[in-house]
Amino acid sequence: MAGKKISAFKNEPLTDFSKSANKKAFEKALKKVESELGKEYFVIIDGDRIRTNQTLRSLNPSNREQVIGTFYQANEEYANKAIELAHEKFLKWRTVTPEKRAQYLFKAAAIMRKRKHEFSAWMVYEVGKSWVEADADTAEAIDFMEFYGREMLRYAGDQPLVKLPAEKNRLLYIPLGVGAVIPPWNFPLAILVGMTTAAIVAGNTVVLKPSSDSPSIAIKFFELMEEVGLPKGVLNFVPGPGSGMGDALTKHPLTRFIAFTGSKSVGLHINKAAAETQTGQLWIKRVVAEMGGKDSIIVDNEADLDKAAEGVLYSAFGFQGQKCSACSRAIVVESVHQKFMSKLLDKAKTLTVGNPVDPKNYMGPVINDKALGSMMWYIDKAKQEGGEIVFGGTKDDTVGSFLTPTIVDNVKPKDTISQEEIFGPVLAVIKAKNYDEALEIANNTEYGLTGAVYSKNKNKIERAKAEFHVGNLYLNRKCTGAMVGAHPFGGFNMSGTDSKAGGRDYLMLFTQAKVWSEKVK
Ligand code: NAD
Repeated sequence: MAGKKISAFKNEPLTDFSKSANKKAFEKALKKVESELGKEYFVIIDGDRIRTNQTLRSLNPSNREQVIGTFYQANEEYANKAIELAHEKFLKWRTVTPEKRAQYLFKAAAIMRKRKHEFSAWMVYEVGKSWVEADADTAEAIDFMEFYGREMLRYAGDQPLVKLPAEKNRLLYIPLGVGAVIPPWNFPLAILVGMTTAAIVAGNTVVLKPSSDSPSIAIKFFELMEEVGLPKGVLNFVPGPGSGMGDALTKHPLTRFIAFTGSKSVGLHINKAAAETQTGQLWIKRVVAEMGGKDSIIVDNEADLDKAAEGVLYSAFGFQGQKCSACSRAIVVESVHQKFMSKLLDKAKTLTVGNPVDPKNYMGPVINDKALGSMMWYIDKAKQEGGEIVFGGTKDDTVGSFLTPTIVDNVKPKDTISQEEIFGPVLAVIKAKNYDEALEIANNTEYGLTGAVYSKNKNKIERAKAEFHVGNLYLNRKCTGAMVGAHPFGGFNMSGTDSKAGGRDYLMLFTQAKVWSEKVK
């Protein structure tokens, strides 16, 4: 592709599964992936495949008897070794031109596009995504590579500086060093690919520690980067437990940055550990942490209630509510509460739950039994605090970890399920006296990730723009489904370090600006 003009960025289109050719292609991919389940995967450091003395089996959350893959686990020693070798590799990788680095991303995006259903099929099996959700995840991963590749070229171009008469000045974005990339399981491809490729294209090397709930998807991406010829050791694959091994990655003095997406508690823990200077450490570690949410949709008395009910429903229950952007609170102005609830409950009855290999199932399982237990605890807590379960609330953990979509009405603004992230298909409905109170409630948590308002009143929409304190605010539409480039994504307060994935600022987080000024007269 060198020398070829690069087209403008365009989002990858989503697959229309109502077309029988697409449906057949996806079924074929599911079969292919099914035939590949249960293999063994190594720790991979500087290209070396390593068998350790500990393994972890990744299981299908729809059917725990199905082993997706067995993964050798790294311990602290391997974590240290990975960082040290990646540091050595960095000294070479940083000299590769931005253009060449970007080519690896473009090439990987092209192959992923060709085999997109296969990548999606892994997600159906390993984390229980429906076809549509998995397809969107893969499309986003492709978008990240296409977007960050182009962004790197923009960053590598001339940066505007004030001209001085007797000097030549230049600002260059240079890489940082070795990064530990620590993604979650819920966008097991998109987020992992986004953080990893942003770091790599900016000239850093990466030690990738995948989530223990989605290591197969991570290794498929690693294999793709091998296929495009990324030099050995630029990306290292180090699965293992968060505590212990994960801490070793954060604490190593040669670790220059940590790119993390996950829960508030782990994000804060990493932030604290990274702030402690280790012997021999030459820099202040950079932490890019994208964390949890407690996202609200306000339903105003002047809203189109059909659209609001639909927006709330799909934001709350898409991928079983396991999105950081998921609507977990509907804040409804009292005067329309009854009407809104009857529409919402009617729509909720249409949702289907089951193994997502079958595309008729809108919702699949939740990620594992531990998560299911925590969701049931929250449902119980909601009842104790006066909430009324008006829909769902039942689990089925016989073969997998299933929970019906659950709607809890009469939740008070400070109740536990109104404040804490549940990360499952549990929606709290809260009444507000009026729009003022609705806005106040929307801002009453420690998070600030996404939010939405349904109202036909332009003044109220303007007020939301000014007063609803979230990183991604949606108006008269659902609060999930951010698109790379169009909706740079990331939240405020305890939702993270205010970064914006898929936006023009993002690569800045993986670089540092060097300025040189040369006397010319
Ligand atoms: P998690 O915090 O449990 O785990 C995230 C990652 O951190 C995993 O890879 C895990 O193995 C690792 N980890 C755990 N302890 C560690 C340690 N001590 N050191 C290093 N790594 C460690 O989160 P999860 O359950 O995987 O994901 C769900 C969470 O992610 C939710 O809170 C969700 O809101 C959040 N999330 C946020 C965004 C966003 O953009 N803000 C996007 C997706 C998910």
